[in-house]
Amino acid sequence: MIAPSSPSPEPRRHSPLCPECGATSIRIRTSIEVEVDVVVEDPAAEMIVMDELLGDAMWDERTLAVCPACSWQGTVGDLRRRALTALGS
Ligand SMILES: [Zn+2]
Repeated sequence: MIAPSSPSPEPRRHSPLCPECGATSIRIRTSIEVEVDVVVEDPAAEMIVMDELLGDAMWDERTLAVCPACSWQGTVGDLRRRALTALGS
């Protein structure tokens, strides 16, 4: 066997996040604000969407976080505290 001459990228190691099952991937449930420009051609008619502006997705310590693997639910703050604890050990 000949080793490849170019180094293969180091696989990234993710730290366990879920306090229940240690899953490394957690889903954060947040929402975005959407601004919609509408017009009405006739007072009785439906509004017609002319344009949509999507805002940024924001989350803070109190935003809901869910583990897809075991259904644990907590907050982003819970995950931050866990990540800091893992760094300290
Ligand atoms: Zn989990």
